[in-house]
Amino acid sequence: MKIIDHKLQPGWHKPSPNHGGPLDGPTLLVMHYTVSGAGAKGVADYFASPAANASAHIVVGRDGDIRQVVPFNVKAWHAGKSVWRGRSNCNDYSIGIEIDNWGRLMRTADGQVRSATGKIVDPGQAVELTHRNESKPALWEVYGETQMKALVEVTRLILAAYPTITEIVGHDDIAPLRKSDPGPAFPMGRFTSLVGGRGDASVLTRKVIASRLNARGGPGLEFDKLGVFVSGSVVEVVYDSPGPWAQVRGVIEGGGEVVAWVSDQFLA
Ligand SMILES: [Zn+2]
Repeated sequence: MKIIDHKLQPGWHKPSPNHGGPLDGPTLLVMHYTVSGAGAKGVADYFASPAANASAHIVVGRDGDIRQVVPFNVKAWHAGKSVWRGRSNCNDYSIGIEIDNWGRLMRTADGQVRSATGKIVDPGQAVELTHRNESKPALWEVYGETQMKALVEVTRLILAAYPTITEIVGHDDIAPLRKSDPGPAFPMGRFTSLVGGRGDASVLTRKVIASRLNARGGPGLEFDKLGVFVSGSVVEVVYDSPGPWAQVRGVIEGGGEVVAWVSDQFLA
């Protein structure tokens, strides 16, 4: 993947009519979720219709597919009414990335986990977290590794091509009263460290510093213990949630590789 004449190749989809004037020297990267299950192409097609009255520069699908509908040197319509560091209208100085994700989920009376649009979502894709702008926990769709890898790769390209960008924020940072995306399930800390080159997009490892660290089936003490990682074990971080739990892959005491959740304060 390359950026040629402000367009991803491959990745350029078709032009959206929903855009502003020239975007010179963007300083901000804004992350969003789509509230959709349409895939990158489906969302890009939507942004390519005048009826959408909205757009973003690129859309990243759950399967890693990436589609672009506004060139990076043109303003996209992704931020709406927004302010960052006292400067309003973030569309005027930012590149917008939409990540295909349902965002907030709910458990309905029939026991199913559903999206805001009523679509049934695999409960294994849901994580309970409290949004930093809210007081109560809610269910949110997890961002999968395939999508995160593609997102990291394309973000590194964008940052290399547009070195004027100095900050990465969420829509919920620049419009906190209106917007919840990309939400608490988005691993912003890990993402910014990966795209900053301080890590490897494929494998992020941590060392166990507790003498015995319980490996559990889910992110909480109520989940079954699958085994124990002993002190000094090296585990691969599968998903570093913004909460106190991380999903890791590693070898437990007695042998055997597991994917399990651990309390991340015991990882160095
Ligand atoms: Zn948004």
